[in-house]
Amino acid sequence: MINLLLGLLLHYANRRPSILYKTEFYAVKTKLLQKRGIRTGTSFQHIKKECYRCDHGMYFSHQWAMYEPCWVCSGTGVYEEFWTELANYRLGRYSFHIPIERYYRQPDFNTEPIEGYIRHKAPKYYVANECCYWLFLLYDRPTFVKLFIKSTSMSVPFRNIRTPLVFIHTLIVAWRESRLRSNEEEGLPF
Ligand SMILES: [Zn+2]
Repeated sequence: MINLLLGLLLHYANRRPSILYKTEFYAVKTKLLQKRGIRTGTSFQHIKKECYRCDHGMYFSHQWAMYEPCWVCSGTGVYEEFWTELANYRLGRYSFHIPIERYYRQPDFNTEPIEGYIRHKAPKYYVANECCYWLFLLYDRPTFVKLFIKSTSMSVPFRNIRTPLVFIHTLIVAWRESRLRSNEEEGLPF
């Protein structure tokens, strides 16, 4: 039962981890999956970033009025290419991946790699943030406290909020920002 609930929280939080404390979120994700998840295997992800500076490795030099090999990608047309080994986990009803290692040469793998980044569709009403806050509350208390006591940059429109922690957080941030503003105004000499 508890795993079902944690899987659900992680699934939604993972859809669009809070812009604040991304590193901390991924640390919680790893910790939670290693502790409660079931390891289901290994996958590979293939990332290939095209070079933005040239056209298939050739670049038009205005100085010489001719094409020459691109110096950014050494004429390959590929800015960066790597393979990431992923540990697959299952928690509750959902599957998750944790990166283990990055390879710059194609490793031996016996499954088809996942091409490109895995894109997630963000849920509505800041549900991702809500789930992320709960995970911090359960598994990373210092970050939870930092988020609620110190952060000022994550205010969202009140009309779009449907969940308790995002509501409280937004209220605290709005209150702190209004206090900062009134302090600034008091400091003016005229
Ligand atoms: Zn290039």
